[in-house]
Amino acid sequence: MSAHRFLASSISSDTVTFSAEQSHQMRHVLRLRPGDRVRVFDGATPRDLLVQLTGEGGVVIGECPQRAEPRTRLIVYPALLRREKFEPVLQKLTELGATAIVPLLTVHSLIREPPDGHRMDRWRAIVREATEQCGRGCLPVLRQAVNFDSAVRQADGTVVMVYEGEHDVDVRQALADRPQTLSLLVGPEGGFSQDEVDAARHAGARVVTLGPRILRAETAALVAAALVLYELGDLSSHQP
Ligand code: SAH
Repeated sequence: MSAHRFLASSISSDTVTFSAEQSHQMRHVLRLRPGDRVRVFDGATPRDLLVQLTGEGGVVIGECPQRAEPRTRLIVYPALLRREKFEPVLQKLTELGATAIVPLLTVHSLIREPPDGHRMDRWRAIVREATEQCGRGCLPVLRQAVNFDSAVRQADGTVVMVYEGEHDVDVRQALADRPQTLSLLVGPEGGFSQDEVDAARHAGARVVTLGPRILRAETAALVAAALVLYELGDLSSHQP
């Protein structure tokens, strides 16, 4: 079966339509031809459709289960970074299994402007391509950037903040009660301010260390997401 996977623009009964960009990629980059098979998903239903390409779009010829969605609802709030650092974070948080990603504006952030509409479109395309590539069935939601106070107010579930000034509690200890919904706050290059750490603690966040070395912000976002998902069993072998 072809490994190429696409998020379909539209699926009606057994016919699939692709965007102009996807058709271009199929034809001119992947060199797929009518008769070739691809997998298609709709971004919300946990199953892949096996689709045979026709000249225009494709027809559904089968279905296969799709087990790549994590059980944990992980909403990551990575502090906004320069574009070339932030884009890989978006891609890799998607691969790891984040449910939603919310760029965070903090007092020490070097990037102070929320992304404009054009950049958000580009970033949504990065998230979509990572979803197609990694086998997930649901598209993580990329939300509008929020400032720290709103993030702490709106954060769902158990809130975890990674902070290099914490030396006792680690991710495993913080997740001993195995929460199913979790919001993860990761700071910028300049770190969280003491006020932000205090406000998070005051709001009930669990403040955790990622060990004695200071990680770069982009490293910390990925390591923290991976540790959380590993602790909660979402990076382990499939359960039968
Ligand atoms: N400027 C700070 C470091 C910021 S590192 C300093 O030099 O002290 C960027 C972000 O990554 C931090 O805000 C924190 O959220 C996370 N981070 C990096 N290393 C960490 C560690 N060892 N433990 C917990 N969080 C860490």
